[in-house]
Amino acid sequence: MNTALHPKRFYDYNTFLHEKFGGKVYKICLDAGFTCPNRDGKRGVGGCIYCNNASFSPGARLADTPIHEQIAAGMAVGRNRFKAEKFIAYFQAFTNTYAPLERLRELYSQVLVYPEVVGLAIGTRPDAVDTDKIALLAELAQNKFVSLEYGVQSMHDATLAWIRRGHTYGDFVAAMDWTRGRGIHVCAHVMLGFPCETRAGMVCLADEMTRVGIAAIKIHNLIVTRDTPLAQIYAQEPFPLFAYDEYVELVCDFLEHLSPVIVVERLCATTPDEYLIAPRWHKSPGQLSQDVSKCLLARNSYQGRLAYSQ
Ligand code: SF4
Repeated sequence: MNTALHPKRFYDYNTFLHEKFGGKVYKICLDAGFTCPNRDGKRGVGGCIYCNNASFSPGARLADTPIHEQIAAGMAVGRNRFKAEKFIAYFQAFTNTYAPLERLRELYSQVLVYPEVVGLAIGTRPDAVDTDKIALLAELAQNKFVSLEYGVQSMHDATLAWIRRGHTYGDFVAAMDWTRGRGIHVCAHVMLGFPCETRAGMVCLADEMTRVGIAAIKIHNLIVTRDTPLAQIYAQEPFPLFAYDEYVELVCDFLEHLSPVIVVERLCATTPDEYLIAPRWHKSPGQLSQDVSKCLLARNSYQGRLAYSQ
């Protein structure tokens, strides 16, 4: 992608979807009833300190609703509200590779039988895959688009320990080694704004994501959400969170270091107002996207301008 000529100055997700599928694609969020190894005791019990999974898709804990009903409801929304005729089935809630292989095959195959479903997106943790699961996804990717979304969050093990993530950065590197070159579109979820990291350290993460060869990224700012350990820490000892304008500048710095071939699926975290403690910017993701583009333009810059090249 020539991001210097792109009107947004970065490789946004809509551009990618149009290039890849030739039209509007609506992502249907699914809840297949998974749990998470960082909650059920395998890796930890309390979850990551910022995790309030209900806030990720409030009102949408649909684990008891059969998948085909969730797909039908999602297609109706996509068609009526967004005029979409193509869909990506997004296994979003909790850790969506955390089950025996045959259960995963059955589940993923159920949604791929719909001709309108052009692909799968699967949210997971790097320590919840193995070579057999990656082989299954590589097999499915021969016929349909498969995006595997790894929660990475940080490249610093001290940060990962602070947020009680239950895995190391090395776990992600190992997962990438199994996944790279298998026809699977890898999307990394990262978080900017941990109080134990410097701004320069956050920008280094863009260099590292370029180096490991991801295909897409979701960037989240650290937010403090109600009913989480992070909320308790913040109440006892408030730490600085990015103001909106600072965050716009940071995202631009980050994008300048990110390879222009990496699709930027998200620029910030979102959570419903009733769950959000801080920061309260009152800005939509669309507004942030516009402001990031304006800032890159004002710098006469673009995604990848300072990216590491191999
Ligand atoms: S890995 Fe995801 S679902 Fe599990 S505790 Fe962390 S944020 Fe929550």
